[in-house]
Amino acid sequence: MNLIDGKKIAAELKNKLKVEVDGIKKKFKKVPGLTVILIGDLAPSQIYVKNKEKSAKEVGLNSEVIRYANDVDENTILKKINDLNEDKSVSGILVQLPLPKHINKKKVIESISPSKDVDGFHPMNVGNLSSGYESSVPCTPLGCYLLLKKIEPNLSGKKAVIIGRSNLNGKPMAQLLLKENCTVTITHSKTKNLKSECLLADIIIAAVGIPQLVKGDWVKKDSIIIDVGINKIDKGIVGDVDFDQVSKRAKALTPVPGGVGPMTIACLIKNTIDCFKRINSN
Ligand code: NAD
Repeated sequence: MNLIDGKKIAAELKNKLKVEVDGIKKKFKKVPGLTVILIGDLAPSQIYVKNKEKSAKEVGLNSEVIRYANDVDENTILKKINDLNEDKSVSGILVQLPLPKHINKKKVIESISPSKDVDGFHPMNVGNLSSGYESSVPCTPLGCYLLLKKIEPNLSGKKAVIIGRSNLNGKPMAQLLLKENCTVTITHSKTKNLKSECLLADIIIAAVGIPQLVKGDWVKKDSIIIDVGINKIDKGIVGDVDFDQVSKRAKALTPVPGGVGPMTIACLIKNTIDCFKRINSN
């Protein structure tokens, strides 16, 4: 079994991006900038944002985190996003989710300029992705896609089963795989007989949030399995795939942690640089 080392592949990607940023600095005499808005003090969000800031700095981006208390009003956030949309030193804007209940997520996402939407959540980017046009692509599915391409450069004709239909993971993942000419099935909480769907798959992307849901006898021999799940259980962090069982049958499998997670952050950096390039090519 080929262990898909997301940590190593993300480090390689970040090295390439660093070279690209150095080139941008020389050519444009400017540095791409990522601004993250963090509301409240949820521990996982604090950790994610810290890791994002660290990676942005490693690659040589300008990086700023703007913090607000949990009770900040929606208008303050919308006004700040509007200012950042106008600010030429900012290439990418990310509002860390989840938001406090009194702030309308849809309004916030739609207020970010699509050209600076490094999360790829703006409806215009979602539409562009599903139409096959250039767009910002959500970081986690983009990371999964790059891992897959590393293992299997030609995905054409492969049968892919995606478990989970979230806007964050399952749906954009399906678009990326369709573009590669995969035959894609999206499964979800109401899918009947998930095991038999999985048994047909050359590729499984598990993005559910149920610890070790995918068992060894759910996967075809020689399939490629990408585990997006991050679940805290008594013995630590596990994915949506039963690693011990599935690693005995799969051709390639991502570990959790150390698989998709590091790629998500590397792809955020990639998206920021791509936003800079698109803005500056006009
Ligand atoms: P979500 O809760 O928004 O969506 C979960 C999806 O799973 C839903 O579409 C639901 O229909 C489906 N589902 C639920 N129960 C099911 C079942 N029994 N069978 C089949 N499908 C079922 O979750 P999300 O935001 O997409 O995240 C999924 C997982 O990925 C979580 O564990 C999350 O922590 C993790 N995650 C990891 C990263 C990363 O960087 N590695 C990034 C984002 C999310």
